[in-house]
Amino acid sequence: MYRNRRTKILATLGPASSSKEKIHELFMAGADVFRINMSHSSHEALNELVATIRSVEKEVGRPIGILADLQGPKFRLGNFSDDSIEIAPGDKITFDSDKKPGTKKRVCIPHPEILKSVSKGDRILIDDGKVTLNVTRAIKDKVTAEVISGTTLSSRKGVSLPDTELGVGSLTPKDYKDLDAALDAEVDWVAISFVQRPEDVAEVRKIAQGKVGVLSKIEKPQAVGKLDEIIELSDAIMVARGDLGVEMPIEQLPGLQKRMVRACRTAGKPVVVATQMLESMISAPSPTRAEVSDVGTAVFEGADAIMLSAESAVGDYPVEAVAMMDSIATQIEQDANYASIISAQRGEPQPTGADAIALAARQIAETLNLSAIVCYTASGATGMRAARERPSIPVVALSPVLRTARKLAMVWGLHCVVTQDAYDLDDMVDRACRIAHDEDFAEPGDRLIITAGVPLRTPGATNMLRIAFVGSDGQSGV
Ligand code: PGA
Ligand code: MN
Repeated sequence: MYRNRRTKILATLGPASSSKEKIHELFMAGADVFRINMSHSSHEALNELVATIRSVEKEVGRPIGILADLQGPKFRLGNFSDDSIEIAPGDKITFDSDKKPGTKKRVCIPHPEILKSVSKGDRILIDDGKVTLNVTRAIKDKVTAEVISGTTLSSRKGVSLPDTELGVGSLTPKDYKDLDAALDAEVDWVAISFVQRPEDVAEVRKIAQGKVGVLSKIEKPQAVGKLDEIIELSDAIMVARGDLGVEMPIEQLPGLQKRMVRACRTAGKPVVVATQMLESMISAPSPTRAEVSDVGTAVFEGADAIMLSAESAVGDYPVEAVAMMDSIATQIEQDANYASIISAQRGEPQPTGADAIALAARQIAETLNLSAIVCYTASGATGMRAARERPSIPVVALSPVLRTARKLAMVWGLHCVVTQDAYDLDDMVDRACRIAHDEDFAEPGDRLIITAGVPLRTPGATNMLRIAFVGSDGQSGV
């Protein structure tokens, strides 16, 4: 079974989609990777979901990726004595560490690191940016700010600080515990929320020890400012438009999305476009035209994956939302302009054997109109370089490592199959032909191109290209 679609779909799981039946339906509708949001999942729930996904994986016989998304530092206001206060532009309010219920004059921010780090002139955004304040005075652990816009402040609302570099990393004590739990559960990807500095990524890498892919969510201006360094240290990136649209002017999102997708495509790192893609499908069976167009834009940009959040986690139409994404992406990929738009953004190969071979494999496959590019990849690195070329010919990635196949489920255009390492060159060619045939990518008489490393079983040594005929029995013909 293969999907007639190159762009991958991530579906967030939640109350609307935790049963085995629903997860199975979501997969069948097109979900390639499932996201588990650690903000709302206990370790028990995490383990249960992972077990459920793995049992669906067994049933469908295809590797499925799992992404555990760490909550990160989500800051909140303290409580008000009347639960909320009315405010108006020009009002001044003081934030402090006093746990006493808030009044019209002052309220607690129960995060000492915020009070320590803000300075005069910084903005404080509350409740997804519905309230904006400007800091007029910051002394010790008392911060006074003037209301610029907004009408109400209520207890426990979220606080964002787009101008402040908090002296702390992006990982909270909860994140460290959740990261351990995610590693124990053997998920394939871990997402770091509110990444601010390359060091945040390095810290997770050190703990993960290569056991999972590390995905950085770009949702703060500080991360946008260090985008290249963060991409370099990360295995993948998410354009996290929800919080990014709060922390930065919302009209910059389309440009930032293009910039991030291009940077990731150049680097050959998977990039996920996320949040509000089909938002209205939380409560309606069909999306708005604008949402369809937004999904279409991400597909035309060549993003590796597009993501559903509340639509699949808590919405009324989770399966319909996945099916809708699937049909939009499939349709766009068949559009007459798609191939030329995608190839216009193709990065130059880097001077490595892997890139030279990936480029040559694509050119040969396209010139000879071969049925598939089959690449052997143990760590997944060669598979990702093949995907970086965004070939118009299907790419089958063969790996002896199940973990690699699952991880690559998030990568543009890769159809992953777990198979033993070939024991010699003939076996390598036979195996490639047989799998391409069995997975319905090639018919007897078709030709394909195989990339591999010789000597076999040497990781990181892709150095060989071979054109092969598929014989009548599905094995290599000549
Ligand atoms: P979240 O991240 O859904 O965990 O907030 C995505 C985003 O902010 O867009
Ligand atoms: Mn976010």
